[in-house]
Amino acid sequence: MFGYGYGYGFGPSYLLIIIGLVISLWASWYVNHNFKKYDQFTSHHGTTGADAARFILDNAGLQDVAIQQIGGKLTDNYNPGNKTLSLSESTYGSTSVAAIGVAAHECGHAIQDQRNYLPMQLRAALVPAVNLGSNASIPLIIVGALLGMNHTLITIGIWLFALVVLFQVVTLPVEFNASGRAVSILKTGDLLDSDEVPMVKQVLFAAALTYVAAAISTALQLLRLIIIFGDNRN
Ligand SMILES: [Zn+2]
Repeated sequence: MFGYGYGYGFGPSYLLIIIGLVISLWASWYVNHNFKKYDQFTSHHGTTGADAARFILDNAGLQDVAIQQIGGKLTDNYNPGNKTLSLSESTYGSTSVAAIGVAAHECGHAIQDQRNYLPMQLRAALVPAVNLGSNASIPLIIVGALLGMNHTLITIGIWLFALVVLFQVVTLPVEFNASGRAVSILKTGDLLDSDEVPMVKQVLFAAALTYVAAAISTALQLLRLIIIFGDNRN
């Protein structure tokens, strides 16, 4: 999340920030609600998240990808840099349907990496620019405004913020594709029975919505910046 957009004027465009905030809060509630719900279903096969991940990775020829346990809630991730799949406490040792789904989703990212999935490569290539953009865009815009609406600084600031939006949009196919891969792997029946797959779909769909919400809320912040500062040619 990017906590920008607050604190410079309460014009009508402030509503865009409120809308983004409400969407993000709802998405966050929705994924937690779904995870909690399907975390109560122990899978019939009784495999843990970590064992399920190991099974999927080995089957995909990814014996070199390590699996580790990390702290936090829903902090599960795959790091292409060190080929490590990190599972949170609620996933690693859990035998719930939700945990298997999350573990399979992260394996989906490892398989994307193995197959040089283009949106994932694009997303990784954007990271340095996005770090710069998310740190520098708002300060540049503010300094530009303080310098009597300096057109160049404000325009650079807005374009840097647009990079952050682009990054979040490129994240969407990466996330949906990882979930798609997870569901097709789980449909083979090695780890879950067929009546358990719809539950996983529900959990992963809810998780994907948080990325959609983040993209929408950042896009609304960009729109607000354009409304406030876009017409700065004095
Ligand atoms: Zn993911």
